[in-house]
Amino acid sequence: MEGRASESDATAGRGPPVRGHGVHIMMSSDSGRLSAEVVVVGGGPAGLTAAVALAGAGVPTALVAAQSGGRDNRTTALFSSSVAALAAIGVWETCCADAAPLKTLRIVDDTGRLWRAPEVRFEAAEIGLEAFGWNIENRSLVAALEARSQTLPALQRVKADAASVDIDDDGVTIGLADGGAVTARLAVGADGRRSICRSAAGIDTQTWSYPQTALTFNLKHSRPHNDISTEFHSAEGPFTLVPLRGLRSSLVCVTTPEEAKRLLELDPAVRNAALEERSHSILGRIEAEPGHGAFPLAVENARRMAANRVALIGEAAHVIPPIGAQGLNLGLRDAAVIAELAVEALREGADVGSREVLGRYDRQRRIDVATRTAAIDLLNRSLLSDFLPVQGLRGVGLYLLEQVGPLRRALMREGVDPLAARPRLMRGEALV
Ligand SMILES: Cc1cc2nc3c(=O)[nH]c(=O)nc-3n(C[C@H](O)[C@H](O)[C@H](O)COP(=O)(O)OP(=O)(O)OC[C@H]3O[C@@H](n4cnc5c(N)ncnc54)[C@H](O)[C@@H]3O)c2cc1C
Repeated sequence: MEGRASESDATAGRGPPVRGHGVHIMMSSDSGRLSAEVVVVGGGPAGLTAAVALAGAGVPTALVAAQSGGRDNRTTALFSSSVAALAAIGVWETCCADAAPLKTLRIVDDTGRLWRAPEVRFEAAEIGLEAFGWNIENRSLVAALEARSQTLPALQRVKADAASVDIDDDGVTIGLADGGAVTARLAVGADGRRSICRSAAGIDTQTWSYPQTALTFNLKHSRPHNDISTEFHSAEGPFTLVPLRGLRSSLVCVTTPEEAKRLLELDPAVRNAALEERSHSILGRIEAEPGHGAFPLAVENARRMAANRVALIGEAAHVIPPIGAQGLNLGLRDAAVIAELAVEALREGADVGSREVLGRYDRQRRIDVATRTAAIDLLNRSLLSDFLPVQGLRGVGLYLLEQVGPLRRALMREGVDPLAARPRLMRGEALV
């Protein structure tokens, strides 16, 4: 177990006082038990962001995570509001040099069906933005979050996994795999799709799956992408190329499980040619870099975002198909909201894990998650559908977006900065 506060004051076993908005709060550690106001469980991008946002605002926070990130070759297209939040917590400056701007989004109908939609282009400049967002490799983002987390005196890093979660009226105790324990008023469950925090809080999930798998590759290519992300909509799912720095892009290829298996079994040179063919050679010659991901498509959403002193964030709260780059953007909004509510509660001298705080969190996050899930579900099903009227409606929808400027601009604004979810960090404002 690691804890900066306990290292700096080993004899007393207590860390330095942290000024928390008018109140002094102590972080304490004795005989393998650590206590903090908030314990974040899970060191993926969502958990790290929450821990950095909380501790950066002076909230005594423990982060329970044996490792951060793990082996992840994925990239994340971060919308401009997510970038504003990462800048506000002092993370973006460390990783922005690794990110590529997304200035244009193109949707191309590649279904070959009778009802084909027109090509639609969304330009960030049309809504006064330099870019809709930035695409970054997850490992760069996680490294920047890790680096920032090590500069925050209010953050205690516990390098062990959580083995148990016990909840009582006053707080939560996280039992550690190495035998120690952490107690706190509030647990932020950022422990991914198999969340033990979610089970301990008694929160059920609503789950369904799609007959599709998402393959991820990072590609080198011979032609420039010109900061354009292109989404080819095929009858098996979207094939999406997202710019990285230089002559590189990330690819998310959503297809049938059988086709995914076939593509993965191909000789690399033959697979490169197959991917280039699907990309209509818009990026010239393609070479996939070593490493890939394969993710069966599913939805797994918590029925509540919080209960019983546990607030869920990131994939512990919602797993949605990787279509439209929504997943981690939602996860960062979760982190921003719970951090803001915790800071407010402490400022008022209230209990950060109270029913009121958790109720507010649930209300603020549920609609955002539900509407994004519904939109992705609708888009995906409209692609998979063989029913001609559904294909027609999809075509009409895209035609209207192409033709009607105000509608297109409203959709673009809502996409990057949803009206229903504008916590302070997402507006680029500090929490204190
Ligand atoms: C193909 C694909 C492409 C995607 N592209 C985008 C995109 O462009 N934009 C976007 O916004 N989103 C995207 N997403 C979604 C995004 O990748 C996820 O939302 C994000 O990675 C989830 O982060 P997380 O921190 O919630 O979960 P995870 O990354 O799963 O982290 C959970 C962490 O908790 C740890 N953990 C688990 N159990 C315990 C325990 N008991 N104790 C301690 N730690 C524990 C795990 O080890 C892990 O480190 C994509 C997803 C996929 C599949």
